[in-house]
Amino acid sequence: MPEDRLMPNANLRILFEAIEEVMGENGAKAVLKSGGLGRFVGNYPPNNTELEATFADYGAAQQAVEDFYGPRGARAMLTRIGRATFQRTLKERPAILGLAGIAFKALPMGARMKLVLDNITKAANKDVNLRAYLREEPDAYYYVNEECPCRWRPKHDKPACFVTVGVLQEAMGWATGKNFRVEEVACISNGASACVYRIPKKPIE
Ligand SMILES: [Zn+2]
Repeated sequence: MPEDRLMPNANLRILFEAIEEVMGENGAKAVLKSGGLGRFVGNYPPNNTELEATFADYGAAQQAVEDFYGPRGARAMLTRIGRATFQRTLKERPAILGLAGIAFKALPMGARMKLVLDNITKAANKDVNLRAYLREEPDAYYYVNEECPCRWRPKHDKPACFVTVGVLQEAMGWATGKNFRVEEVACISNGASACVYRIPKKPIE
């Protein structure tokens, strides 16, 4: 196990709330207990941005959901949990996403996507203790994270960070009103040096 890395309390809290939203209260309880996170049942981290939660616990919660549904079923559930995570963060802690007060009605779709991805990247570095950057290619954006809770999860034979896939899908949907096929194309838990998410510039028709 790598040395622990800290993240804001609110991020872990919102992940737990999103798990509860998608799996129900009893499902969330079962998952927390089986993931070695029983101390958080009825006792979520506070809704503040103190760096007192850990990447290891954030990863353990995702892993527990994966173990609960099995790797195939977990993919859809974790993506839904990611979508709920984005919506809750937007409501409860918009500053974490860097999206507080953004008004972009007049901007074209591409500019909206870029603005939201830029802001998420900035906030990831500044507030969430991630190490993220954005790369743009003619047909897609690549959101790259050099630190990820999946570093604290068991090795996977395929990319495993579907919560972040869901967050990015929902963020793009929120920004544009359209659906995008976001994919994690490289993953730390799969042996890569960074988790890399591809966000195509064209939505799904
Ligand atoms: Zn990953």
